[in-house]
Amino acid sequence: MLKVQNLCAGYGNVQVLWNVSLEVKDGQVVAVLGSNGAGKTTTVRTITGMIQATGGSVVFNGEELADRSSRFILEQGIIQVPEGRQLFSGMTVRENLELGAYDREAKNRFAETEEFVYYVFPALKERRRQIAGTLSGGEQQMLAVARALVGQPKLLILDEPSLGLAPKIVDDILKIAVNLARERNIGVLLVEQDVNKALAVSDYGYVIENGRVVLQKKAEELKENEHVKKAYLGI
Ligand code: ATP
Repeated sequence: MLKVQNLCAGYGNVQVLWNVSLEVKDGQVVAVLGSNGAGKTTTVRTITGMIQATGGSVVFNGEELADRSSRFILEQGIIQVPEGRQLFSGMTVRENLELGAYDREAKNRFAETEEFVYYVFPALKERRRQIAGTLSGGEQQMLAVARALVGQPKLLILDEPSLGLAPKIVDDILKIAVNLARERNIGVLLVEQDVNKALAVSDYGYVIENGRVVLQKKAEELKENEHVKKAYLGI
């Protein structure tokens, strides 16, 4: 479904990504791993059209996206849960969800998807009239994922969902993402610094260092890889 080839991108004159290639298939959870500043978020921003690629290609279901607008990319069904969640903190849970229904089809199906996300995240149903800014960190992350789901993604991109959250909540959110991938056959691109948690739920993983993919393997093979163990798992 998503095939990124030799992607190059950066900020101004500074090149950050150097020939990054990766693939996500339907129903697959793919992890992008790396430490601070490795280029993970830049990879996601380039895929979603927030920054322009300077080279390479991003093909999604046969469509070249590298030179398209972020709106067009969103309309293809690539929906991102951004790092830091970026909710509308002065609006209620429900209003935030409504804003996730970005096109007519998603709006028409809002009643159905709203029920679905409340089923997935019961805590949000109880708090649907609560102002988003007053939710706990974990609840806000759930809302950010729920809002993305309302848009009916074909590819869901999660950027650092573990940031600032208790391990148990991270586990819950990741489990839900994986179940969605399996049940609804959507691809999940999981950007994570917590390599242990990411590999526990992923099918495949890419390790990015200094803007380059230095390793790519099945998740269970990455767990056993000496470089991954030493550099990211502390063993
Ligand atoms: P983290 O896990 O800390 O979020 P990351 O792997 O997502 O890290 P990126 O955010 O992609 O890393 O950053 C890669 C490089 O690009 C870093 O050197 C960073 O300083 C630089 N960078 C990121 N955003 C910008 C920006 N808006 N302007 C200039 N440089 C940037």
